[in-house]
Amino acid sequence: MKRKIEGIIFDLDGTLYLGDHAIPGAEATLKWVRERHLQVRFVTNNPRFSRAFYLEKLNRLNLPAEQHEVVTSAQLTAKYLKEHQDFGSVFVIGESQLLRELADANVDVVQHDHADTVLVSFDTTLTYEKMMNAYRALQNGAHFIATNPDAVCPTPDGGLMDAGAIIAALETATGRKLEKVFGKPSQLLAELMVEQMGVAPESCVVVGDRLNTDIQLGKRANLQTVWIRAHEEEIPTESHNKPDYMIESIKALPEVLCDAVGTVRTEMK
Ligand SMILES: [Mg+2]
Repeated sequence: MKRKIEGIIFDLDGTLYLGDHAIPGAEATLKWVRERHLQVRFVTNNPRFSRAFYLEKLNRLNLPAEQHEVVTSAQLTAKYLKEHQDFGSVFVIGESQLLRELADANVDVVQHDHADTVLVSFDTTLTYEKMMNAYRALQNGAHFIATNPDAVCPTPDGGLMDAGAIIAALETATGRKLEKVFGKPSQLLAELMVEQMGVAPESCVVVGDRLNTDIQLGKRANLQTVWIRAHEEEIPTESHNKPDYMIESIKALPEVLCDAVGTVRTEMK
């Protein structure tokens, strides 16, 4: 690798585990990373579960993690709305965990269509009534934001319809365009993690299996990128979406990183 690496951002689903099973080699790779004392973040676009849930899952799968290392799109959304009061009252298409994060951040969540902002999220409790409240609020000029852009959330049995599909429905109905999204590949999310880790963006690498979220996140924030090509996807050729490195599995990550990490160790002595 070109530059020394001090921080690693791991995607979760499809990178470290699939469903309820660790991906072969993930445990050994994370052990290798831990032995080198690198800063680590585990990031997921899925806003349906808490950081504590992911922490428990990672540790249960022998992928040791600490609470402050887990980052979710719901967490960043709540933090942003807390710091940007101009978004006013918020109507939410989302589930209880997101509502809890927003309540903890003292965001003014309302149940009617006069909201200042419509926040769209992954919602398996979606109803026509929620869609109509969001539609009317958007027609009244509300801000249009989302926790994450994913069309489908991967599951072992074919996936679940995610926030991206709800965003598309509202865009079609209103003729409006989504203004802001917090999950991968948003630059806001990359900047939050880089700041938390206290490293320079170029000393950071993002590792993930999705070009349009994980690799784009890295590209937008000037991080190095390692793509796990697990789905027979076509290899991109244009520089704006071409990953710096491509591997077949998380198992091969130490080979890609060893030179860059070696530099850090030498400097630390
Ligand atoms: Mg993934």
